[in-house]
Amino acid sequence: KADEKESMYLVAEYAQKYFSNTMMNTDEGQAIGFSYFKERGFTTDTIKKFGLGYSPQAWDAFSKDALGKGYKQEFLEKTGFTIVKENGSLIDRFRGRVMFPIQSMSGRVLGFGGRILDSSKKAAKYLNSPESDIYHKSKVLYGIYHAKQAIAKEDNCYLVEGYTDVIQFHQAGIESVVASSGTALTPEQIRLINRLTKNITVLFDGDAAGLRASIRGIDLILEQGMNVKVCTFPEGEDPDSFAKKNTHDELVNYLATNAKDFIQFKASLLVDEAKNDPVKKAGLIRDMVTSIAKIPDRIQREIYIQESAKIMDISEQVLSSTLAQLMQKDV
Ligand code: ATP
Ligand code: MN
Ligand code: MN
Ligand code: MN
Repeated sequence: KADEKESMYLVAEYAQKYFSNTMMNTDEGQAIGFSYFKERGFTTDTIKKFGLGYSPQAWDAFSKDALGKGYKQEFLEKTGFTIVKENGSLIDRFRGRVMFPIQSMSGRVLGFGGRILDSSKKAAKYLNSPESDIYHKSKVLYGIYHAKQAIAKEDNCYLVEGYTDVIQFHQAGIESVVASSGTALTPEQIRLINRLTKNITVLFDGDAAGLRASIRGIDLILEQGMNVKVCTFPEGEDPDSFAKKNTHDELVNYLATNAKDFIQFKASLLVDEAKNDPVKKAGLIRDMVTSIAKIPDRIQREIYIQESAKIMDISEQVLSSTLAQLMQKDV
């Protein structure tokens, strides 16, 4: 079993070299892949640092090449790079896409995200490697290998949604950033960050989906006894587009002034949607206390109860008794 996994790692590592080489050294790769990344504002250094690449449009270019190099079909299939059709012919999973290798904490290639270039096509914008013995989506954070030192040093981790958000932040000089990429945030992913820092700043896209994901993420982070801040972006912007439009100083300044602790973040939702509506306000307060109930440490819970009482202009006693009720329900 250990041997099998090692063979799969070797296939994934070879695939990364192949996609990178295809992008840098073939006409198709240059014309389509490389120029796409350049248009997105990625430098050649960035492209190399993240091992970005391009998968050719041909049906079976990678499979053929890898088989020719002696990689076994079994492991090409198990890693998901090769799909066997009913008639027995082989096709590549990734064709005509720009490729983002997904690396483990220690830098091993586990799988890929591949982005379609023409988003008018019907196919999904991003296609990922399938779940396998070496790639467990729920236990991986994109960018963790390149971020771990900065996260430990700065004692904070920025959590974004996508590959390009991570990469654009690096280019903007912020390296303490990882993405959940392609799955809803999981407890295992948060545990990876928890080994490096107790502080997470959630930076999800400035759209309804991003907002919903932030709200979900908060409770998962609090459950692990970590501190969570949220910084939202203007409607229609994500960390990638925002970082691209602004200078390093503007970005750092925006993050510093707009990152709110989760109580303030939830209170700001109230201002936006429930100001003069007592029923909505009550709902939001209950929601806030529900989040506080997730915090394992009693003293921390107490501090947050005090803070929310102040912000929401409601008595601490009411909040404390609501908290007590919620926590009884949990047991
Ligand atoms: P881009 O800027 O290239 O359009 P993005 O990262 O802003 O990409 P989003 O639509 O915001 O893309 O999605 C965030 C992340 O969710 C993506 O980076 C990708 O990891 C994942 N994702 C998006 N669409 C899909 C999909 N159809 N299938 C699987 N994962 C996806
Ligand atoms: Mn989005
Ligand atoms: Mn996005
Ligand atoms: Mn984007």
